[in-house]
Amino acid sequence: MDAPFDFNHREKPPSFADAVNACIDTALVAEQAERPQRDYLGGSRLGDICQRRLQYEYLKTPKDQGAGFSGKSLRIFALGHVLEDLAIAWLRKAGFDLRTRNRLGDQFGFSVVGGRVQGHADGVVVAAPNGMAVPALWECKSANAKNWREIAKHGVGKAKPVYAAQIALYQGYLGLTEAPAFFTAINKDTCEIWHELVPFDAALAQSASDKAVTILRACDAGELLPRHTADPDHFECRFCAWRERCWA
Ligand code: SF4
Repeated sequence: MDAPFDFNHREKPPSFADAVNACIDTALVAEQAERPQRDYLGGSRLGDICQRRLQYEYLKTPKDQGAGFSGKSLRIFALGHVLEDLAIAWLRKAGFDLRTRNRLGDQFGFSVVGGRVQGHADGVVVAAPNGMAVPALWECKSANAKNWREIAKHGVGKAKPVYAAQIALYQGYLGLTEAPAFFTAINKDTCEIWHELVPFDAALAQSASDKAVTILRACDAGELLPRHTADPDHFECRFCAWRERCWA
């Protein structure tokens, strides 16, 4: 007997939105692949919990299969840049003299250890209508509602140690240690804005700087630094782009 036709079995075609987004994401991923990878240790990353991961980043070690940035991640990063531009405009409208470029038109930044450690700051506040001390480093992040609430509840130092290390390091290397840094976080879901002043933490800056030296020395010596955990299912490892390589 012939098999009956199965008229109900059909592959669900992608929705119109899915099809368009697939085009966008393919373009974004291709564009990202063309961007040169940075060949220095980024100051914004030195607060990362895992030195080995920072080594992989610095050495441009290939990521695990399928672990590169997705189109969606790239869209999220791009949205963050737009929100940062908005925050700059809003603060300037409010009377803050917020500079994002130096007199030469370059982004405020530093380059140490022969250019092997670099950082670029979001801006410097040189005058403010609220009487806050200046000049102050300005750092801006956008976050989803859950992360933003953590920052607003506990402060950046406790909620986001990676950002706190970045702020301390940048204050130290840019000589902006007298006035507390001005940290802004935008809630991507609600558009609420959190601001706080972060006094310079010399010990944190020193430890981030020491970490950079440790990583560079290990890279030069061809040594792999220890993992930050003995548990491959640690939260940080589950989302690490080098997990398979690291635990192989
Ligand atoms: S998998 Fe875990 S231990 Fe290994 S590099 Fe990534 S974060 Fe570090």
